[in-house]
Amino acid sequence: MIKFLNNKLFRYLSVFLLLNSSILPVKSSSALAAWVINTNGVLELRTKSNTNLKAYFQKANQISGSRFWVDFPGELNTPRTVKGNGPIKEIRLGKPNKGKTRLVIEFKEETYLNPLTWRLVGLDQNRWRIKLFNPKYTFKKIGEGQVVKKIGNIKKNQKSIYKKKSDYQYLKLPDVKQNKFSVVIDPGHGGPDPGAIGIGGIRETDVVLEVSKIVKDLLTQKGVKVKLTRKNEVDLDLPPRVSFANNTDADIFVSIHANASRGKRRDINGLETFYYRGWRGRLLAKKIQKQILRVSPGSPDRGVKQGRFYVIKNTRMPAVLVEIGFLTGRLDARRLEKTTHRKRLAYAIAKGILEYLYRIG
Ligand SMILES: [Zn+2]
Repeated sequence: MIKFLNNKLFRYLSVFLLLNSSILPVKSSSALAAWVINTNGVLELRTKSNTNLKAYFQKANQISGSRFWVDFPGELNTPRTVKGNGPIKEIRLGKPNKGKTRLVIEFKEETYLNPLTWRLVGLDQNRWRIKLFNPKYTFKKIGEGQVVKKIGNIKKNQKSIYKKKSDYQYLKLPDVKQNKFSVVIDPGHGGPDPGAIGIGGIRETDVVLEVSKIVKDLLTQKGVKVKLTRKNEVDLDLPPRVSFANNTDADIFVSIHANASRGKRRDINGLETFYYRGWRGRLLAKKIQKQILRVSPGSPDRGVKQGRFYVIKNTRMPAVLVEIGFLTGRLDARRLEKTTHRKRLAYAIAKGILEYLYRIG
C-alpha cells in the first residue's frame, strides 16, 4: 500500500500539478531527461517542459528499505538499475505501467531520513530538486545525463546559476535535536493596533504575522515546538505576550517587528535586532541579525543592540526583538510588500534561531 507519509510534500506537489497543466500524450517517450544525486544529498531532475510529477515515500518494511520515487509521464525505453553508494542502496528506472516512467531511490536500512522536511521544488519549467539526506553521509555523486543543459546565451546561463544557488540556500536549514526545544514567536501588534504604517499603506501587523507564521512552519519541520502569541488580527497587550512565554517555559522568545522612521523618511532603511541582557540573548540576536542581512542586500546593518522593550525585558528566557526593515523606507518597503521577501526573511530568522539552538545544544 502506498502511504502518503509526507503531507507537506504532497501539498507542494499539488501546487505544481496545478501549475503544470499540460499532459503529454500517452505514447510519447519518457519525460525524464536527466537526473543526478549530489554529494550533499540533493536529487536534481530535468524533465520535458511542463511535466506533471508525482512523488511518493514509503518507509522501510520487511521486503525493502525506505524508498522514494517519482513518476513521470511517457514510457521509458530501457529499464535499468544503478548501483548506489553511501546511504543509497540502488536507483531503479522502470515502467510501472504502460506509458509511464518511474525513478525509485532505495535507501540502505540504517539511513536516517526525515521525509517531513522534504520538498520537491520546481526551479524552472523543466528542473526540479529535492533534498533527501544530509551531507554527513559520504556519498559519491550518481546520475545520468546533464541536469543543467548548456545554454548558448551566457547571460541567461549566469542567471540560472544564481537562481540555483539562492534556491538551495533556502533548503539548507541546520538540524537540531528533535522535540527538544520550544520557541515562542511574537508577531508584533495586531487588531486595532496595526503598528507602523508604511509607503502605500503597508501595515506592520500584516507583514510580521505572515513572516512569523512561516518561521513557525519552518521550525516545526525541524522538530522544534513553536507557539505564536497571536495567530490572527487580535488585540493583544504586551503583558499577556510575556506571561504566555513565561508560562510555556520556552527556550527563547522572538518578537518580530517592522520599523517606521520619524517623519516617514524614505531614505531611512535598515535592519536591527535588540536583546535586553545576557550572552544568550546577545548570541541569538547576532545569529538572527546576520541572517536577515544576508537576504536584504543593500539595506543597512543597524546592528545588534541592547534595548529596553517591554517584551524582551520581562520575559524570563533569552529574548530578542527583530526589526525586519523600514516600512517607511523606499528600499525596504518595496521588498516587504512581497511575499517572496517575507519568505526569505522568515527563512533567515528560522536559520538564525536554529543556529543558536544548535550552539547551545
Ligand atoms: Zn512594531
